[in-house]
Amino acid sequence: MSRTLFTNVTAILPDRLMEEANVLCVDGIIMSVSRRKPRLGADTGVVDGHGAYLSPGFIDIHVHGGVGADFMDGTEDAMRTVCRAHAQHGTTTLFPTTTTGSPEQIHAMLDAAKAVQKDQQAANGARIAGVHLYGPFFAEDKVGCHSSEGRRSPTAEECRRYFDKGIVRIATCAAELPGAADFYREARRRKCFITCGHSNASWPEMAGAFRLGMRHVDHFWCAMSNVSSVRGRLGVPMRGSMLEFVLGIADMSTEVIADGCHLAPELLDFAFRMKGAHRLCLVTDCNRALDLPPGTYRFGSNDDGSWFESDGRVGWAPGRTSLASSIVGMDHMVRQMARDTTATLPEVIRMASLTPAERTGISAKTGSIAKGKRADFVLLSRKLRVKRVFIGGEEMEVVSHG
Ligand SMILES: [Zn+2]
Ligand SMILES: [Zn+2]
Repeated sequence: MSRTLFTNVTAILPDRLMEEANVLCVDGIIMSVSRRKPRLGADTGVVDGHGAYLSPGFIDIHVHGGVGADFMDGTEDAMRTVCRAHAQHGTTTLFPTTTTGSPEQIHAMLDAAKAVQKDQQAANGARIAGVHLYGPFFAEDKVGCHSSEGRRSPTAEECRRYFDKGIVRIATCAAELPGAADFYREARRRKCFITCGHSNASWPEMAGAFRLGMRHVDHFWCAMSNVSSVRGRLGVPMRGSMLEFVLGIADMSTEVIADGCHLAPELLDFAFRMKGAHRLCLVTDCNRALDLPPGTYRFGSNDDGSWFESDGRVGWAPGRTSLASSIVGMDHMVRQMARDTTATLPEVIRMASLTPAERTGISAKTGSIAKGKRADFVLLSRKLRVKRVFIGGEEMEVVSHG
């Protein structure tokens, strides 16, 4: 039995800060959280936080790559590289996210994720909670930075084969595509968290998807419909879009790419004020350029993914007319939200941990500092920089990013 006490920390709980907290963990599970110091046996290890914040480990439901690898490379090596890279930024659980690609590429990715998930150990970095089947079922006019040859409408046969692997936990499909209803029904049967993204859907199409279990929209404001884009597709009268649907329906959640490059502060704060910390997730949507110098990289598979350019702050589609996802980790998103919005620190952290855990059905095991959950922690400096990372109680080695 291994016992570890995290002490001399300010614990970030879902609803408040607990100063001078003591968090006792046994075999990687949280046993108690209190201000009183428990009596220690001689065999209890002590982690002295020196006054730092003890945050729950971050949970990323939308992430593509890092440090040169993309999940769509489809190898176990690539999987581990990305999971380790994001653990350096405080992420302790993630959902490897597919993009557009051939069925063979997607199957390779699902197989690699399954193999690495089975071989769970701290040295592999962030744990894989399941795959986010994100591409290829995007709308043609909202494909964004992804390679459009790999985009298509879902067929029952193709989807069934992905779901049969048993590792898909989040499922995205544009609501207006032929076959979307069957996709949602199948995803619901497999108890996936269902989302609509890269879509030009109207309110009625969203309402239909909602009845089939869809509850979330990927990267708010990016590659999604608005009133005028729906008007371009369906004419008058002007109709509600994904935007109104997410803002108008209480149980819809969404996510923001809070890297400071995709969305200005007023939009980040608007999303927070409209949806609140229980319905807004922070995601990185990070590509393989994380922690690499500026340059040209592929989004998606290294064989045939579309090219983008990293300027060291964000990814750009060729010609620099539109963005091609972020190149930073979750710690950056947390600092940006803390700086740019009216959310309190517990609210910011909730959006990067407990809220994504609740939405995807893993909150009994992780997502907050509470008795019975895994000891997934990030020690954060007062400036919210990552100091130390623990996954299931085991420490990851962290290299400083300055
Ligand atoms: Zn996207
Ligand atoms: Zn993405």
